[in-house]
Amino acid sequence: MTRLHADVLVVGAGPAGIAAVCQLAEAGKSVIWIDSGSNAGGQIWRTQLPARWQARLEAVAAKVQHLAGHAVVSPLPAAAGQHALLLQSQQEPSAAAFAVQAPNVLLATGARERFIPFPGWTLPGVTGAGGLQALVKQGWPLKGKRVVVAGSGPLLLATARTLQSHGCEPSLIAEQTSKTRLSQFALHLDARFWAQAASMAWQLRRVPFQSGTWVLRALGEEKLEAVVLSDGRREWTQACDALALGYGLLPNTELAALLGCALQAGAIQVDQQLQTNVPGLYAAGECTGIAGVDKALAEGGLAAQSILGQQRQRAPAALRRARRHGQLLAQSFALRPELLQLAEAKTIICRCEDVSLGELKAQRSWRDAKLQTRCGMGACQGRICGPICQDLLGWPAGAGERAVRAPLQPTPISAFLSPGVSMPADTSQKDQGDPSIL
Ligand SMILES: Cc1cc2nc3c(=O)[nH]c(=O)nc-3n(C[C@H](O)[C@H](O)[C@H](O)COP(=O)(O)OP(=O)(O)OC[C@H]3O[C@@H](n4cnc5c(N)ncnc54)[C@H](O)[C@@H]3O)c2cc1C
Repeated sequence: MTRLHADVLVVGAGPAGIAAVCQLAEAGKSVIWIDSGSNAGGQIWRTQLPARWQARLEAVAAKVQHLAGHAVVSPLPAAAGQHALLLQSQQEPSAAAFAVQAPNVLLATGARERFIPFPGWTLPGVTGAGGLQALVKQGWPLKGKRVVVAGSGPLLLATARTLQSHGCEPSLIAEQTSKTRLSQFALHLDARFWAQAASMAWQLRRVPFQSGTWVLRALGEEKLEAVVLSDGRREWTQACDALALGYGLLPNTELAALLGCALQAGAIQVDQQLQTNVPGLYAAGECTGIAGVDKALAEGGLAAQSILGQQRQRAPAALRRARRHGQLLAQSFALRPELLQLAEAKTIICRCEDVSLGELKAQRSWRDAKLQTRCGMGACQGRICGPICQDLLGWPAGAGERAVRAPLQPTPISAFLSPGVSMPADTSQKDQGDPSIL
């Protein structure tokens, strides 16, 4: 099997990966840069890179082998001091898998949306806020449609603004956090973030905004027709064609967990230099904790410096400011407990395998649920339902070290049968004598 070599592997082409790749390649390192997406930009710049980053990337293109449209599906055995990863093409799943290898790896795997289930959340027309934003940027027609944006945090405003700039004025933004918390948030915002928020609020001034308000149910037969909202005192129904939900983000830690990295509070644990507990493995951006694009850029740069051997005693000021912003976000937009009580026995929790909350409540653990109901065994491999089960049932999330299995996404068996690739070992739960689940 083909095995490509470089000084550094960077997984993730969002802001963190971009900042790191530029700095590493400018310092003369050869870089293999992998992302399952078809172009650089990650979640925030998926359709257009800011000009300054575009220019820097173009200037270092000769040092960078950019493997866009390739997902890392598994770690592979490698010689001492090296790390190897198995890659699968996303455009051509039948293409032969191949391996990449380097002494240093930077994980800049970003985050995904968090979902909180309620009756009707799987109806066509209900999406994640970031998901709808991405669809609209790629041409999904919403002009003239009635869209409710609900959930919590600044992504609601960013989504509403994207819809607006594509000709769709949302009919409501329902923010679950209270007015008091929102005022506290505004008071403590850094001047730069305050200016951004104020500008967005001004642009959205004609869109109704209700704090302390959340969706109880989505109604419809074949597709979404209305939502039932609550402000804790009264309930009302609002007709709509689309519902965009944003309950915050969750770090993508699965690859890190497979590589043996320790996790902390749901994110990849790193030291001051952004090194994980595994020598040669670094992490940067949303996967080390949610705080937005500024933190991702600053951490990407800092991780590159660490790989280059330029150790810093103290995080740069921009990074400290961005991390403070992340803490403020977490406090201000903490989810109210009522949201975790909305799902009913027949509410679907695992969308891939159609498993309801009632079926899951009859199980003792995440592992039992996988074995008995196939929860978490579908295409998303527990990325969506794992964290929901943690929220609603207290089971370890799909991203827990013991719960993650290779391959990270559905992968042809042929990928693992190529010479030089051994089937990933299942080291989990052996102590309980349970059968292995691949
Ligand atoms: C859906 C969504 C929409 C968002 N919209 C906004 C917005 O409008 N404004 C805003 O300020 N912030 C937004 N954010 C927050 C955003 O995540 C950060 O601001 C910023 O993009 C984080 O940069 P990052 O480099 O850490 O991660 P990301 O930008 O998430 O990049 C991570 C990259 O890693 C790749 N990746 C992950 N795992 C693998 C793998 N196994 N193999 C190959 N590639 C892999 C992904 O394809 C992705 O491109 C959004 C987040 C999400 C999830």
